[in-house]
Amino acid sequence: PTEPASEPTIFERIIAREIPADILLENERLIAIRDIAPQAPVHLLVIPKTAQHRTVAELAAADPELLTELVATAQRLADEYADGDFRLVFNSGAGAGQTVFHVHAHVLAGSLAEGSLA
Ligand code: 5GP
Repeated sequence: PTEPASEPTIFERIIAREIPADILLENERLIAIRDIAPQAPVHLLVIPKTAQHRTVAELAAADPELLTELVATAQRLADEYADGDFRLVFNSGAGAGQTVFHVHAHVLAGSLAEGSLA
């Protein structure tokens, strides 16, 4: 049988420049891109480069410093691309809507006070 979990995810292919993306920020550990299907006026993704962690809980357990850096990066992006206010969303598991099993944070910003998340 095939093992889908071992195949590169879309984010690994973006990190490897095999697929184009609007890259806003990148360092040795993280990359930030615009979501291809925005659910808010500003919808960015902050993605650890390592493909080791599928969910935020796995990342938190294995590398809390990287999770902390991810949160700080989300704030920096919200400062730069919005007014500094943002929602940070991690879908964990298919039942919660996770479709890419390489941990990533959704940074949602812009005129969200009256709305609910899709
Ligand atoms: P999830 O549902 O796993 O939490 O979020 C995956 C996100 O990745 C979705 O919001 C989806 O729009 C985004 N996405 C999927 N494929 C691509 C792509 O090729 N490029 C970009 N920039 N975003 C993508």
